[in-house]
Amino acid sequence: MEERLLRSYEKIRSNAINGLAIVPVRRSACGGCFAIVPPQRQAEIRERKKIIVCEHCGRILAGVDEREEVEEEKPLKKTRKLKVE
Ligand SMILES: [Zn+2]
Repeated sequence: MEERLLRSYEKIRSNAINGLAIVPVRRSACGGCFAIVPPQRQAEIRERKKIIVCEHCGRILAGVDEREEVEEEKPLKKTRKLKVE
């Protein structure tokens, strides 16, 4: 019954450094709590000169996902490119 909870918890933990969750910025919003991240902050995140933390949930914003489309998080299974000769 608690397995699903446990799994999502472990997923969060696997992204954590020193207990802090790291999330990307998606569609101008925090990937953790979906609070809007101002463009200026996004720029700072892109520069990666300092650690930007979401003011809302305290997660570390690790990068800006530039893709506009919403993509479900799937287990990393990259499609292998076949070599065409
Ligand atoms: Zn947040």
